Amino acid sequence: MSYAATTARQIRDHLRHTLGRACLWCGSTTDLQFDYELPTPDGHHELAYRSRMVAYVRQSRVGNLQLLCATCHARKADQDWVMTHLPQISDRAPRQL
Ligand SMILES: [Zn+2]
Repeated sequence: MSYAATTARQIRDHLRHTLGRACLWCGSTTDLQFDYELPTPDGHHELAYRSRMVAYVRQSRVGNLQLLCATCHARKADQDWVMTHLPQISDRAPRQL
């Protein structure tokens, strides 16, 4: 385990602690993932792990980071996508990547 990776994990643990270690929607404490409350296209999914943690810290400082479990996160991702594309699609259209 490299020093950089250890530090990234410490950042992640700190953020989880700050956000209460539970899914904001259902209270689950397993499979937790960070989510931008307001979708922000900063390309953080393309970043290396540590840079992504730093991006999460930045969002948490402006109050835009929340903790969701994998199930709720997937549900929100779908909602975010639908809201962004609503004018172009009909209800329940398949997701285009
Ligand atoms: Zn949940």
